[in-house]
Amino acid sequence: MGYITFENVSKTYPNGTLALHDISFSIGEGEFVFLIGESGAGKSTVFRLLTREENPTAGRVSVEGFDLAQLEDRRIPYLRRKIGMIFQDFRLIDTLTVGENVALAMEMIGESPKKIKQRVPLVLSIVGLRRKMSHYPTQLSGGEQQRVCIARSLVNKPRLIIADEPTGDLDRVSTEEIMELMDGLNTGSGKTIIMVTHDPRAARKAHHIRNLDKGVLNSDAHP
Ligand code: ADP
Repeated sequence: MGYITFENVSKTYPNGTLALHDISFSIGEGEFVFLIGESGAGKSTVFRLLTREENPTAGRVSVEGFDLAQLEDRRIPYLRRKIGMIFQDFRLIDTLTVGENVALAMEMIGESPKKIKQRVPLVLSIVGLRRKMSHYPTQLSGGEQQRVCIARSLVNKPRLIIADEPTGDLDRVSTEEIMELMDGLNTGSGKTIIMVTHDPRAARKAHHIRNLDKGVLNSDAHP
């Protein structure tokens, strides 16, 4: 039994688009898995099923052995709290400082101001941005903005991190830095990581690469 399992999962959107066709895979706790595939292959749909933004049309998605279809709607925020999310376009709020952006993720789940004050500098240290806590996102490079996004994803101590093309808009040097950081979160902190990418350079350190092709999962390729 994996930490995350997809069993014969299909997803057809209401307009009739078949996004995933009978895919099955399992991811163990502490694995670093890359999901690769052309645009439209169904990668984002996999993430939306994991966060319960969408439900499968057929099959079963489970996290820690728990079938997400059984999850009551009011429990969905708890599921999402356990998943750190990193996006290609960062999704930082430009009118808030780096520290405030990270703090917001804790405020949203009702953490105390005292805890927030302790935790925010700590996660910013992990990503090497402790000294830029009072800067605004627009004063940072793309690589630094992505590191803020990573700090924000970590602040509520998730065991799982999902990253959607996190290096898609970054240059080679920043890509290397971000990949080093993600690698450290996996090997050093034991986070389970699923990363979507179409960059083969980024995928070289993965434990497993799953290749999605038009909603169908090709056999597991090892790097
Ligand atoms: P990827 O992330 O690999 O680019 P997606 O999971 O976003 O792929 O999309 C898979 C397929 O499902 C595509 O054909 C896409 O157009 C379609 N699709 C995605 N989201 C929706 C939606 N909300 N409604 C209808 N079709 C969608």
